[in-house]
Amino acid sequence: MAQSFRMKPPMGEDNGWWWQQAAEGNLAIQRCKACSTLRHPPRPMCGDCQSLEWDHVVASGRGTLDSFTVLHHPQFPGFDYPLIIILVKLEEGTRFTSQLINCSEDAVEFGMPVEMVMHEDPDGFRLPMFQPAQGAHA
Ligand SMILES: [Zn+2]
Repeated sequence: MAQSFRMKPPMGEDNGWWWQQAAEGNLAIQRCKACSTLRHPPRPMCGDCQSLEWDHVVASGRGTLDSFTVLHHPQFPGFDYPLIIILVKLEEGTRFTSQLINCSEDAVEFGMPVEMVMHEDPDGFRLPMFQPAQGAHA
């Protein structure tokens, strides 16, 4: 039997563009055109100045681990457990919730440098995840 795929996120007018960016390999961050404030997850209005005008920047993918939680239950099909769910502080300044991979549960530390890796499901669905930083920017 084929592996079950992870549940797909709802993709609407407000966030469909973000998933399109992910499909192209980019970790996008929405940016207010009026005041340049970055925001994630995507939403129509700037929380700082209420502007509806926005564009986006492509993040470097580098950041530090701000917080994490390890999920053992409940288990949904399409995911490998335990899941290390992390809050990353991107170097652009925004926080991003993701999953830490290529790292054992025991090795996770607050403040550790992490980098984005674009995960791809067997069905081609792409989703940004993070792993311990391999580069020299620690
Ligand atoms: Zn704004």
